[in-house]
Amino acid sequence: MPEVKSVDEVLLARVQADPATGRAIPDAATGETIGYAPEQAIVEVDVAVAAAKAAQREWDELGHAVRSKLLHAAADAVDANAEALARLLSREQGKPLDGPNARFEVGACVTWLRSAATTVLEPQVLIDSDTDHAVLTYRALGVVAAIGPWNWPLMIAIWQIAPALRMGNTVVVKPSEYTPLSVLALVDVLNEVLPPGVLVPVVSSDREVGARLAAHPDIDKVMFTGSTATGRRIVEASSANLARLTLELGGNDAGIVLPDADPKAIAEDLFWGAFINTGQTCAALKRLYVHESIHDEVIDALAGVVRRMPMGCGLDPGNVLGPLQNAAQFDIVARLVEDAEARGGRVVVGGEPAPELGANFFRATIIADLTDGVALVDQEQFGPVLPVVRYTDVEDAIASANGLDAGLGASVWSSDRVAARAVAARLRAGTVWINSHGTLHPEVPFGGVKKSGYGLEFGVEGLKSVAEPRIVSG
Ligand code: NDP
Repeated sequence: MPEVKSVDEVLLARVQADPATGRAIPDAATGETIGYAPEQAIVEVDVAVAAAKAAQREWDELGHAVRSKLLHAAADAVDANAEALARLLSREQGKPLDGPNARFEVGACVTWLRSAATTVLEPQVLIDSDTDHAVLTYRALGVVAAIGPWNWPLMIAIWQIAPALRMGNTVVVKPSEYTPLSVLALVDVLNEVLPPGVLVPVVSSDREVGARLAAHPDIDKVMFTGSTATGRRIVEASSANLARLTLELGGNDAGIVLPDADPKAIAEDLFWGAFINTGQTCAALKRLYVHESIHDEVIDALAGVVRRMPMGCGLDPGNVLGPLQNAAQFDIVARLVEDAEARGGRVVVGGEPAPELGANFFRATIIADLTDGVALVDQEQFGPVLPVVRYTDVEDAIASANGLDAGLGASVWSSDRVAARAVAARLRAGTVWINSHGTLHPEVPFGGVKKSGYGLEFGVEGLKSVAEPRIVSG
């Protein structure tokens, strides 16, 4: 009997390298090798950029209507390969198929591709009088570098690729060394419909490859999502090539629960705000400030939700929480939890690894009785751990929320939308949600302030960020 391969293995076979030359990529849950990623050298960055540059003019000249049609066709191709992509993503990244995880992520790729295909960036007439006329138009920039992280590798790649292509740019994609295979598979699927050279991947575990791409003289724009430290290096690199930058860096989003919130009603949304993708999400709820009058009820309701959410291997049906994607991230989370306990934190639920599930699993954890100044509150944990801080005066909670360098998102939880909006207006973050956290819409711009980065993605603003403004005056 010939061996029957699963859909993701068939897809993987299209992109993976020879085991003799490739780098073994582990299953995030089991540690077993799932495939081999190609290892490209710095010189291959130059080849990739040259190919993208050579293809750009023709791609631009196709015009918006044709590119829009091709982006819809690309969305159809992703749809047709959705289960294969989701399974590969689940194994490589660790996120379960179920819940707002792998299948959800692939679905978001389709949604964002279609949004980029249908959104129109209209010329803006600035002056139109008897004597003067000025109009602002937008053109392609050239070649865009899309440098991505390992937490939402497919969705974030699409956030970078789709608007860039729509505006007539070509793209060189550089996935994280931790999740190259699923991104390569996505690019391969997109390239079923895109012309050659329009979307070119470079893959490596050598940080110099990403550095070369960001600094390349023929790169006109870098779209980057990842750590603040790497973001700084990309800013430095841009001093040479003057590449435009969109930087989506880490966050340490605060949530403020006002005294009139209903603990039971908000518990599940609080949970998903903090624990989506097992907490490995840039705009996740990472520290929660709860008014003392309802503090214990909120903790109880939240802990109840945590206890009923299954964690385990991503391919096993029903699981909604998975492992930390890699051992380095597991160590960060374990160290922060240990330190928080030593500093007086009270573990309400979780608080320890789950070795019976696999090496990188850490139980979903809530730690109460913490204060600002403890590392788990002040630093981005990027894992399934939520620190809770009790407050008495909302002014103190607002000061705490605004007190860190990060400014990606924030949230306010209340039964009174007007009161919540008044607090929201005082929070310094790119997005402030009310009674939810981290919900994104392809037409609503998203981006950070302070050290969480700069530049907006999505919708019309997202198209502007990958375009060159041109004024025609007279
Ligand atoms: P990095 O910022 O190091 O990596 C992100 C991407 O940048 C990867 O593709 C990486 O390539 C690439 N890269 C690395 N060095 C350079 C460079 N000098 N120039 C251009 N590109 C470069 O993130 P990590 O994966 O190491 O994660 C570290 C921390 O970042 C996490 O602990 C977490 O706190 C945070 N993080 C935040 C994310 C967010 O969504 N904001 C997402 C992921 C992580 P390569 O992998 O090959 O080194």
